Amino acid sequence: MRLRNIPGSRDVIAENEYVVHEEKTVKGKWNIVFGNDNPIRIEIGMGKGRFICEIAMCNPGINYVGIEKYSSVLLRAIQKQEELKLPNLKFIRMDAEEIAEVFGKDEVDRIYLNFSDPWPKDRHAKRRLPSRQFLKRYDSFLKKDGIIEFKTDNRDLFDYAVIEANEAGWNIDSITYDLHNDPVMNEGNIMTEYEERFSSKGNPIFKYIISR
Ligand code: SAM
Repeated sequence: MRLRNIPGSRDVIAENEYVVHEEKTVKGKWNIVFGNDNPIRIEIGMGKGRFICEIAMCNPGINYVGIEKYSSVLLRAIQKQEELKLPNLKFIRMDAEEIAEVFGKDEVDRIYLNFSDPWPKDRHAKRRLPSRQFLKRYDSFLKKDGIIEFKTDNRDLFDYAVIEANEAGWNIDSITYDLHNDPVMNEGNIMTEYEERFSSKGNPIFKYIISR
């Protein structure tokens, strides 16, 4: 997702209290950023932030960090948070390729990947957020018993992600090829913007939960 460039969005982000700047300097110190030792969960490629705002609102005892590459998109999440003012929600504008430089060992207990960009060309496979290259990065900061939750309506991307998880030695704890009709996995499901859009067209939603 890349919205039209919004003039001034970089300035708004630079001054916003909910955006963590110089994020590499807080590696291993996220408890200081939040002012508590609550668990930390992150969404990578959060888009306009519907999912992370709602999950943070429902779980005040957990800290959330939403990561998004584009300023114009992040701005929409900031606008939501400006109204909600949730103390347990922060954002970073960055390319997740550098994520291992932002969180320290065991600092995160859950990673959400929601409707990640598919990067359909083979030569771009390593840019896919559930690729083995990204799993290796996640491995460096996810707690030992931490999990990754991934959902998408893109069957090719999902099949690829399942293969990558297996190849990288992760365990598939749960899997569904029709989330909204799976009473167990759908319990407490929070819809993302893309999920709403694609499921309303009749697309089934695929989801896995993996651990090592
Ligand atoms: N998660 C949201 C949802 O489900 O509605 C947005 C999905 S959208 C298809 C994917 C988002 O991930 C886009 O906003 C894109 O800019 C962001 N993204 C893709 N690759 C990224 C990366 N390497 N680092 C940070 N954000 C990324």
